[in-house]
Amino acid sequence: MSERLVILGAGESGVGTAILGQSKGFDVFVSDSGTIKENYRHELETLKIPYEEGEHTYELLLNASQVVKSPGIPDNVPLITALKDKNIPVISEIEFAGRYTEAKLICITGSNGKTTTTSLIYDMLKRAGFNVGLGGNIGQSFARQVATCNFSHYVLELSSFQLDGMYNFKADVAVLMNITPDHLDRYNNDMQEYINSKFRIVQNQTTDDVFIFFADDKVIARELKKRHTTQMLAPFSYSGILTKNGAYVENDKMKVIYNKNEFEMTIYDLALQGRHNLYNSMAAAIVGKVADIRNEYIRECLTGFVGVEHRLEKFISVHGIEFINDSKATNINSTWYALESMTRPSVWIVGGVDKGNDYSELAELAHEKVRAIVCLGKDNAKIVAAFTGVVPEIVETQSMEHAVKSAYFLAENGDSVLLSPACASFDLFSNYEERGKMFKDEVRNL
Ligand code: ADP
Repeated sequence: MSERLVILGAGESGVGTAILGQSKGFDVFVSDSGTIKENYRHELETLKIPYEEGEHTYELLLNASQVVKSPGIPDNVPLITALKDKNIPVISEIEFAGRYTEAKLICITGSNGKTTTTSLIYDMLKRAGFNVGLGGNIGQSFARQVATCNFSHYVLELSSFQLDGMYNFKADVAVLMNITPDHLDRYNNDMQEYINSKFRIVQNQTTDDVFIFFADDKVIARELKKRHTTQMLAPFSYSGILTKNGAYVENDKMKVIYNKNEFEMTIYDLALQGRHNLYNSMAAAIVGKVADIRNEYIRECLTGFVGVEHRLEKFISVHGIEFINDSKATNINSTWYALESMTRPSVWIVGGVDKGNDYSELAELAHEKVRAIVCLGKDNAKIVAAFTGVVPEIVETQSMEHAVKSAYFLAENGDSVLLSPACASFDLFSNYEERGKMFKDEVRNL
């Protein structure tokens, strides 16, 4: 009898796992406690993969030989506890799919900058002619691609929730962008647990593998001192100058060295501006050198890359006022970099569901760069209190239409209006994409 593979959650990663599991001869069963999206239900039915939705029937699940869990399901729910009590392994889609491919795996994690850096690296490898897939938290699931494509390389964006379900998986190239507090509710409010999760990106690496990381990040630096590393280290730094492998900035030039092989370019030619994007570009360029990509392709990617939607996306100008959509900025750190990159006086739209933000970290930049604040959220009291006396004008709104109109009214010719909420979107929107799209719609209506 074939082994029973139970998959919890029928989204892109769950359905991808089901397809891969079926192709490898498992007896697959998919269980989703919510409603399965029509396109995924249709796929499961077409492939005759049994499933349930709206509930988890324990008798159908506790007989599994292994379980692949969607990253959205926390570890402490009763079903997962019950599975673990029976010693049934619970893994993530990435761990499962990693067993069935020989491809080189370039994996990116961090609190911020994952999608941007992953997309840059993918773009670079494509330009250089690699047979490469893009997956993880982005686009089609890794499992689906392992089942249906034949790539020699994958660039995978990995969240800490995916990393938590990974044990034997190994990244050939691991990239760690930064570690700042986020999602601590899933880590018992213990920063060390979250750090350990992020550091799973390097687990199982050996001397042939490469670890690219942000050397200026104090949390990463402190953690590295505690650990024994055997893989090749390739840090990037904004504040230091490196002599070995890695990337740094000197005299407005970004410089990369890997195995004595060098690449450099002026930072003003980078397609993605702002200091955080310089970090992202450095990380991508190191991967380029590690993969032995010719400098012309690295330069072409870094100068020609068209940014990712909702990340400091310069949208349009209306009567000399530039509108920037940074709806993906859902924590303080990402908004800090958005404000830091503003070159014009700004009206800043901020607010939403706050995950325990300390706004004082933004006070200095807000004072320097922001002409007026437009709060956009159900409860704006904390923001009003934090910036009163710091920024000359603060208005409160509870709809995107009102927020955009207020910002337009407060901005002057030559200003920027920046939507960079530092908060999740769930009070007024279904997700950050909807928030960003509605922002752009309202700007178009001006
Ligand atoms: P992630 O996938 O980790 O959420 P994104 O690339 O989608 O990262 O960017 C999320 C937000 O963080 C955006 O607002 C972006 O402007 C900002 N950001 C991007 N790169 C960095 C970085 N290296 N450090 C801090 N913030 C960043």
